[in-house]
Amino acid sequence: MTSAPALGSASDVGDLPTSELLTHGRTALDWIARYLDHPERVSVLSQVVPGEIRQMLPVSPPEQPEPLGDILRDFETQIVPGITHWNHPGFFGYFATSSSVPGILGELLVAALDVKAMLWRTSPAATELEQVTTDWLRQMLGLPGGWFGFLNDTASISSMLALAAAREAKPELDIRARGMAGRADLPRLRVYTSRHAHSSIDKAALALGIGLENVVHVDVDDEFRMRPDALAAAIADDSANGFLPLACVATVGTTSTTSIDPVPAIAEICRRESIWLHVDGAYGGVAAIVPEMRHVLAGVDHADSLVVNPHKWLFTPFDCSAFFTTKPHLLEQAFSLVHEYLVTPERESVVDFMNYGVQLGRRFRALKLWMVIRGFGTAGLAARIRAHCALARQFADWVHADPDWEVVAPVPFSLVCFRFAPSGIHEEVLNDLNAKILERVNATGEVFLSHTKLDDRYVLRLAVGNIRTEEKHVRRAWETLKEQSITVSP
Ligand code: PLP
Repeated sequence: MTSAPALGSASDVGDLPTSELLTHGRTALDWIARYLDHPERVSVLSQVVPGEIRQMLPVSPPEQPEPLGDILRDFETQIVPGITHWNHPGFFGYFATSSSVPGILGELLVAALDVKAMLWRTSPAATELEQVTTDWLRQMLGLPGGWFGFLNDTASISSMLALAAAREAKPELDIRARGMAGRADLPRLRVYTSRHAHSSIDKAALALGIGLENVVHVDVDDEFRMRPDALAAAIADDSANGFLPLACVATVGTTSTTSIDPVPAIAEICRRESIWLHVDGAYGGVAAIVPEMRHVLAGVDHADSLVVNPHKWLFTPFDCSAFFTTKPHLLEQAFSLVHEYLVTPERESVVDFMNYGVQLGRRFRALKLWMVIRGFGTAGLAARIRAHCALARQFADWVHADPDWEVVAPVPFSLVCFRFAPSGIHEEVLNDLNAKILERVNATGEVFLSHTKLDDRYVLRLAVGNIRTEEKHVRRAWETLKEQSITVSP
């Protein structure tokens, strides 16, 4: 990248001239295009050791302005080596996610506008576009009308808001005004979710003062799905013991294996027991935009709230989590607090999104989602998700066909859980071998996978979700796994 003298001095006030934006913006865009076109130039998993990046960086900030060209050059030499490349087509870890050309452009424009989407008047277009894009997404997911949507940073926050609304659905608890601490009149509130639910549900309970002990982790069946009979029994048991069943969180696409909890049966129990049903579809829910996969959200029309993450599997740059509820007034009841400086004359006739959560200033996330949906079209987005699921099934077939390896969970989406398991080797040794394979595969820098544990078995996870991943990348992952399995074989 080019270097030029710094513009201005410490005594200047005001922004750098826009000529700087044009010059260095072009350089940055060139860099981005090269980066996306030539992922082989970088290692997927950063290969630095702890502290290596910090050591390259000055301990104190510069007093005098530095040339943007120098800063961009240092970005390449000092920052990029410490990046793990989620945008790399060989990224198969956790849930593989990626940004896309329309999404990147959206983020760029959002930074230029620097909107705080809290009140309608702080940018009418931000509020109204958020209403429109979340309603587009609702339609794409096949949800009926009457769902109110908005965008948060993460599913963790969306799920926390769902539990806050669930509390508000029991106004007799009066938690908004009186809190929970030190109240002898308050029963212990219980939240039910499966043993395979994401940790964000426990964290939401922790943040809301419900307490980790009051999150009941319901048993799962042999395909890692919540057992409705176990849920009903846990609720009955709690009710008999003076607890107050508050909410249930079902997952569509659990983190370890992408299992799908039986939402219709769970919804029936929640209705009977008058408890809030939140569906965590952070990753898997988005698949409902594929017409033949719409069934993954079966029963969700009977839920009270749902979260899906466009930043996971809808090619929208992080962060963008879509939260939907049929009872937005409960969120308003829980969180609306309008001090005089936020009162506007139009407040009765518009939506002010600050009233539905904790944040005042909110990012203009709708712009990038709007650009992604328009840039690919609903058919284009569905085609990409469909292709990812096909790649995952292809990989699962290769694993199935090799007697030394096994697939250890169903593959309803684009994640394969599998392990190296040659016959005659003790379970503990297998765990050790798979951990070693993973470490060696990731050290190649060509692909990156992560792991989980299922019933004490150490399991490898290959998640397809990156918009640039093609069959050759999945094939390379399989070859690398087999190569490394030879190096660890006992
Ligand atoms: N829920 C599920 C099922 C997840 O898999 C994850 C993350 O992978 C989350 C929630 C948390 O998502 P976020 O990072 O948006 O909070």
